[in-house]
Amino acid sequence: MTITATTVQGGLATLTDEVIEELRGRVSCPVLAPEDTGFGDVREVFNAMHPGDPALVVSCFGAADVRDAVTFARDNGLVVSVRGGGHSIAGLSASDSCMLIDLAPMHAVHVDPAARLARAQGGAVWADVDRETQAYGLAAPGGVVSDTGVAGLTLGGGYGWLRRKYGLSCDHLLAAEVVGPDGEVRVASETENTDLLWALRGGGGNFGVVTWFTFGLVDVGPTVAFAGTFYPVEEAAQVLRGWRNYVAVAPDEVTASFLTVTMPADPALPPALHDRACALVGAVYAGDAAAGLDILRPLRELGTPLADLSGPLPFVGVQQSFDTFFPRNTLQAYWKSRYLSSLDDAAIDFVARCAEQRPSPQTLVNVFHMGGAIAAVPPDATAFAQRSSPFLLSIDGNWTDPADNADNIAWVREAFRESARHGDDGVYLNFTGRADEPPDIAVDSAFGANLRRLAEIKARYDPANMFRANNNITPAPS
Ligand code: FAD
Repeated sequence: MTITATTVQGGLATLTDEVIEELRGRVSCPVLAPEDTGFGDVREVFNAMHPGDPALVVSCFGAADVRDAVTFARDNGLVVSVRGGGHSIAGLSASDSCMLIDLAPMHAVHVDPAARLARAQGGAVWADVDRETQAYGLAAPGGVVSDTGVAGLTLGGGYGWLRRKYGLSCDHLLAAEVVGPDGEVRVASETENTDLLWALRGGGGNFGVVTWFTFGLVDVGPTVAFAGTFYPVEEAAQVLRGWRNYVAVAPDEVTASFLTVTMPADPALPPALHDRACALVGAVYAGDAAAGLDILRPLRELGTPLADLSGPLPFVGVQQSFDTFFPRNTLQAYWKSRYLSSLDDAAIDFVARCAEQRPSPQTLVNVFHMGGAIAAVPPDATAFAQRSSPFLLSIDGNWTDPADNADNIAWVREAFRESARHGDDGVYLNFTGRADEPPDIAVDSAFGANLRRLAEIKARYDPANMFRANNNITPAPS
């Protein structure tokens, strides 16, 4: 069967059976065309709004398969989409009519406890990393949902429960193995291709396919103090004021977030939460668990709790505690984020109003406390430039019925537009959804003064912009 696939020139390439058989002969892994068994079993994406309809899937087993797939795509001029964990809100790993490089089979994690290093393959999710590192009481700072990909999250920055004590995920990236558009397998480290390592620390998937990530590890757990207190959404403003006052003086060991969401009628949850719109205060203390419980206590006394799930918890359990909100391929998702320069009363009232007016029960309005170790890294030390803001507002539109897309997208856009009064132009690209936005939406504001250097590095490693299904950086002119 002949397949047509989109080319980087914007046309269509015809891939005959012979051409596809030639690729099958080169790689050691499945090459799946739409009629092949297993085509539909490729790792699902999170955002059901962007399921992706690839022309061809190469489910790579290792760097050699990635190299052969990339070379094939280059020789045939194909648009490539790279799928790590599949959690891109913008559907970046789900381009239609492309060649999809699927890294799901590549999820191995090796820990060297003596060197305090972990190596994770490009298709690993955080659950893979947490399980292996916690076997030694160690952790690589990841995200707050264990099913999110290590790759996209780290390449785009990476905020999790350890962010204030230990910084971003990309700050712990010590080395990477990268397959470039020329088919070369390179190592980027503090001693080799140092410009590439700088760019990978926040510059996204612009520079090639990362087949291995090497992370420096920190001591965490296995038990940590966790605050998880649910208040009625009607108390959102009061709770957020108390939360703001608390975080203003909290030590860097405390990473705290404020979320609003309507809880499902899940029998595993206390009945008081069933179908209840809540303001949820979540926090982790990265240090001694007993001391942490005392330090987190004020967060549990900010209003009239509907339920309090706080306590000492295994770190691995904390990492999975939000998974239930985010099933794969179920929710339509359109998110926008904005850094806030302060959280004054007007900003708090705005957040509380958004929280009460959410058009869908699955929509979240979140405020993340930043600072600490994030801000201790100079903005030009890594590609990730936005480090000084004390708070990040994230408006996570999630809903189930595609018929509601227009209304929900319009609501998120309006809330985002209004939030400009309380923040700056900076956005977090990993929390940026797309409906009809161009592929370089918000790249300028996210990278700021680092964009120029990123464009030069892009020109060095991917001059033809083969890797463009990402938050795209235009190569600097030669
Ligand atoms: P994918 O969809 O697989 O990839 C996204 C893009 O990353 C690709 O298009 C490609 O450009 C690039 N990419 C992926 N793999 C590779 C690779 N191996 N080599 C080169 N490029 C690659 N972010 C946070 O910071 N903290 C959080 O706590 C957090 N929680 C989230 C929870 C949910 C439910 C979701 C949906 C997202 C969350 N995010 C969070 C955002 C997340 O960081 C981004 O969506 C990220 O892109 C997901 O990475 P992925 O590998 O799963 O994505």
